[in-house]
Amino acid sequence: MQPRYRNTLIALFVLFALAFSGLVALFHQRADVYAEGEARKLALNALLVHRATHAYVTTIQRPEIYRLKREKKLYEGYFAPEVMSFTYISRRIKELLNEQRRRHGLEPIYFKLASENPRNPVNQADAAESRLLRQMNQGALKEYQGVIEEGGQKWLYLAVPIERSNAGCMKCHGDPKDAPAELIAMYGDRAGFHESPNTIRALISIRVPMQEITRAGDQMANTLSLVTFLVLAGLYALITFLIRRIDSQQRQILAQNEDLERLSVTDALTGVFNRLGMTRRIRELTSGAARFGHPLSVLLLDLDLFKQVNDQHGHPAGDAVLRRFAEVVSLNLRASDIFGRWGGEEFLVVSPYLDLEGAKKMAEKLRTAVAETAFEPNIRITASIGVARYRHLEAAFEMLERADRALYRAKGQGRNCVVSEG
Ligand code: GH3
Ligand code: MG
Ligand code: MG
Repeated sequence: MQPRYRNTLIALFVLFALAFSGLVALFHQRADVYAEGEARKLALNALLVHRATHAYVTTIQRPEIYRLKREKKLYEGYFAPEVMSFTYISRRIKELLNEQRRRHGLEPIYFKLASENPRNPVNQADAAESRLLRQMNQGALKEYQGVIEEGGQKWLYLAVPIERSNAGCMKCHGDPKDAPAELIAMYGDRAGFHESPNTIRALISIRVPMQEITRAGDQMANTLSLVTFLVLAGLYALITFLIRRIDSQQRQILAQNEDLERLSVTDALTGVFNRLGMTRRIRELTSGAARFGHPLSVLLLDLDLFKQVNDQHGHPAGDAVLRRFAEVVSLNLRASDIFGRWGGEEFLVVSPYLDLEGAKKMAEKLRTAVAETAFEPNIRITASIGVARYRHLEAAFEMLERADRALYRAKGQGRNCVVSEG
């Protein structure tokens, strides 16, 4: 794979990994917010049940008892916490409610009316509740909500004040002399009295277990994380697949271009350079020779009386001779020599770093090699060779023209010979 595609995929992988971890963190953070919200709903529910109970006791139940007392249907000292004390009633209702919750497989909700001066010791505020109560009485705190750890699990803790005491409250929590005789008989005259009017005498302390809700939230976050992972992984796989395909198609195109490039400068019959290929190389080599001043020579080779080969043995045999001729010449060249078909039965060798004398020797060597070769089927052929050297700063075609003239002279001298024109 091309490095730029590999880098793109690595960058994309890092991006996706970061996005995934960010989203997982976000899902779990949202799950925590969700759990706290759900726990608050449960806490509020418990609070509202309590307030409704309070409203029922103070606005409906108690006036009814007082009416019955006034109408002498109850004796004057009648006091029963089951019908008169809303703290008592509310605690009992919460117990019954938690019993129902347990029966339905739900965890109980802790509920307490905490006071610093309770009548019943079970309602005694602990240190934290006392602190909150004092802050509420000073007006520094309206309500408190927070997640706390206790007994090895998390709870949502909600503390709200009950209403400030009023005349109705002072009947049982003011001077014990004003309190119902039966209340005194039941609880004595020590606890729960001498409250100042207009104070917050208790707070409602609610604790909702968060384990179940948190588990549900975490499950949701995990499901979302899994879906996100699958979507991102799928997307990454798709992008990888597409990039791989583009990469392989580009490679194919590049390879095809290379093939086309090679074919455009190759002679189809002999496999050596064609005229276009040779023209390009001659231009490069002559400009190199011009710049660095080293010698360079060309050899123009033409098969003698080749037409007769075609005429006597047929065109395919002529083709075979041309192929074999190219092989024989190639075998006798140096690695730095450039060799190609100049057209028809004419071939060209360009020899950098070779002066005219060297080029003539080489031409002679090639001529001999060709003359000694037996071409199929039993054909003998010779070649005439015109040699020229590069003259400083001349154009490549001028050197080729001299080689052509030399070749012409070789033909005139009876063929199968080398003629040079410096
Ligand atoms: P000379 O010694 O004067 O060069 O004689 P010649 O017969 O070689 O030269 P001439 O130019 O008269 O003929 C060249 C022949 O080369 C004619 C042509 O049919 C043949 N020829 C050119 N290209 C090919 C080829 O690709 N295949 C075959 N079989 N023959 C070719
Ligand atoms: Mg010829
Ligand atoms: Mg010719």
